[in-house]
Amino acid sequence: MSHDVAAKSAGPNKLVIRNIGLLLSGDLDHPILDADTVVAMDGVIHAVGREKDLDTAAAATTIDAKGSALAPGLIDSHVHPVCGDWTPRQNQLGWIDSCLHGGVTTMISAGEVHTPGRPKDIVGLKAMAIFAQRAFQAFRPGGVKVYAGAPVLEQGMVEDDFKELAVAGVKFLGEVGLGSVKDGVTGRRMVAWARKYGIQSTIHTGGPSIPGSSLIDKDMVLETDADVVGHINGGHTALPDDQIMDICLRSPRALEIVHNGNERAALLALRTAREVSHLDHVILGTDSPAGSGVQPLGILRMISMLSSLGETPAEIAICLATGNTAKMRSLNCGLIAAGREATFVFLDTAQQSAGKNLLDSIQKGDLAGVGMVIIDGAVSIQRSRNTPPATRVPEVVRA
Ligand SMILES: [Zn+2]
Repeated sequence: MSHDVAAKSAGPNKLVIRNIGLLLSGDLDHPILDADTVVAMDGVIHAVGREKDLDTAAAATTIDAKGSALAPGLIDSHVHPVCGDWTPRQNQLGWIDSCLHGGVTTMISAGEVHTPGRPKDIVGLKAMAIFAQRAFQAFRPGGVKVYAGAPVLEQGMVEDDFKELAVAGVKFLGEVGLGSVKDGVTGRRMVAWARKYGIQSTIHTGGPSIPGSSLIDKDMVLETDADVVGHINGGHTALPDDQIMDICLRSPRALEIVHNGNERAALLALRTAREVSHLDHVILGTDSPAGSGVQPLGILRMISMLSSLGETPAEIAICLATGNTAKMRSLNCGLIAAGREATFVFLDTAQQSAGKNLLDSIQKGDLAGVGMVIIDGAVSIQRSRNTPPATRVPEVVRA
């Protein structure tokens, strides 16, 4: 109690980040800002601009970026958490914390489908979703926000089930197609119920991922009309090229490319989306943990892969993993702009990269080095233990 009073009397918790060498906004329309300083209050971005124009006095915490780049914290649009920081898929502990060291600050569950003994009856699946939503809201490894509690559609669900889930706090559905609903008519009806109550949906796209899942083709994807075309590049088995191109052309929804998918199909989806002016719909995920394992650097790897092989400037590729995902997922992170969550990743050229600078190094296929991560205005980690070492790393000069 006395701690709360003291915090209040000290005024807002002000964070100043100065000496930023490159400000990557996450906004596809303006990916690089002419700014070297960010001011945040109580975990929310207050101002972005040139140091001489901003009020940087009386900060509780000041960080010298040392000329490194500042980007919004990365968002993984497609994960499969289970409970705590543990995944039974590969019997691994600490996987979320490892991803934090890859610059990921926000994760969205595409279903807690790896839960041993996952209930498939309707009362059971609702109970599990509400439990996961509550548990991950309260438990944030290293500060990472995991939006979990994503029920998988099963036959027999009625409109009231979606209403009940929404009232209980559930915001996302797990991948359509991983449960017993495997036809477009039923999928479309349930997705519409979910949408009516403010629950976003995603659909598995492509061949079966593991024994027990099944093929979802172009026709079911388009008919179901989920908010996110989950892993349009397959998870891992991709649809034929003509089907991927047709979805990019005809779907008005988010087009999600994942690390645990077909890389050639990922590049096809990216190029097609750009050709039909749907680049602003492209979002990134890992689809981990999965059969392919956990990829702590999965989002950074996607950024470098799509940039180096997909004719995409690095600052644009970073938008796919930040501002685009925030927009398509209705999250208040993902952009460096006033009013957004003060959640950032500091990036710099990996030591000894052949790239001339950070963006050139990514365009040459190297991974960025993470020097620090800030979540909701608080320093979460300093130099990453997982990325190649960043050349320049920021320093907390006053805390
Ligand atoms: Zn899937």
